[in-house]
Amino acid sequence: MGIGRSLLLAAAKSDTLNRIATRSAVVRRATRAFMPGETMEDGLRAGAAVAESGRGILFTRLGEAITTSAEAVAVRAHYEQLFDAIKARGLPAQVSIKPTQLGLDLSEDECAAHCRALADKAEATGSALWLDMEDATYVDRTLELYRLIRARHARAGLALQAYLYRTPKDVEALLPLNPAIRLVKGAYAEPVSVAFPAKRDTDAAYEALSAQMLDAAARRSCTPIFGTHDVPLLQRIIAKARTLGVAPGTYEIHMLYGIREREQLQLRAEGATVATLISYGEAWYRWYMRRLAERPANVGFVVRSIFG
Ligand SMILES: Cc1cc2nc3c(=O)[nH]c(=O)nc-3n(C[C@H](O)[C@H](O)[C@H](O)COP(=O)(O)OP(=O)(O)OC[C@H]3O[C@@H](n4cnc5c(N)ncnc54)[C@H](O)[C@@H]3O)c2cc1C
Repeated sequence: MGIGRSLLLAAAKSDTLNRIATRSAVVRRATRAFMPGETMEDGLRAGAAVAESGRGILFTRLGEAITTSAEAVAVRAHYEQLFDAIKARGLPAQVSIKPTQLGLDLSEDECAAHCRALADKAEATGSALWLDMEDATYVDRTLELYRLIRARHARAGLALQAYLYRTPKDVEALLPLNPAIRLVKGAYAEPVSVAFPAKRDTDAAYEALSAQMLDAAARRSCTPIFGTHDVPLLQRIIAKARTLGVAPGTYEIHMLYGIREREQLQLRAEGATVATLISYGEAWYRWYMRRLAERPANVGFVVRSIFG
């Protein structure tokens, strides 16, 4: 892992830096490149523009690791309201949540009840619920939650991370459920005992996993979603899908709001099914530092927007 990336991921965990950054109007302004704002309305407005360009939308409200059950109840109520707003505005949108945001650290049972309720609400409003994958200590519990909601909701999906050594086995174990899997490279600082330390190994693992998922899609036992901005890799995946006879509508490409916008539109114009994940909310600090760590050159962009 590069020094820039390690430092930014370490800074992501600092409560002091979190307090300083979130109070600073200039830093808040700099975040606008990757998030449209802090309120649901900000997210919905950006979503309408994304939909206008022929892309699907995934919404997520920023925030992780809450400390009281009451907070989990409030997060659930927020997402219920979001599903209603998606339906009312006719947006082609789904919602992705972090299990710790719904209290996974506090009570697995309560978290499961919240996730089940949200998956029910998603289905009732014509949408779908996705589970983000957080750090490696949460993988088993997140897989368990996914099995629980997938048993009742065919469109529910789950993110898996290519940097974890275990992921090929996790994909294989999920295939009997005919899962929807969003494959991402992985955003957390993980120990070498569980994840590839070198980016090139993660990239190779991503490509191998994409082939595993496309093979399964050809047998109709997986809906693959490729969550990456790595366009050359995506071009190879699209070519592989074509070879296997997996049609563009049966797999999707998802990218983050504000990143590789031109390429998102280009892929869409070339016939790919593309969706944009829009994050909004007040608790953006940790999430934002992970985005900077993905591309330390972005720090220059922040400095320019602060002083420019
Ligand atoms: C839709 C979606 C959902 C995700 N969900 C999860 C999740 O649930 N759990 C999880 O651990 N991670 C998640 N991630 C983050 C993911 O794990 C990676 O950290 C992130 O996508 C960066 O890796 P990359 O695949 O884009 O490839 P890289 O090889 O890192 O990047 C490919 C290219 O995109 C550019 N790029 C990448 N990131 C940025 C950036 N922040 N700003 C500007 N340019 C950039 C790079 O410069 C490079 O040229 C998600 C990502 C996406 C797109």
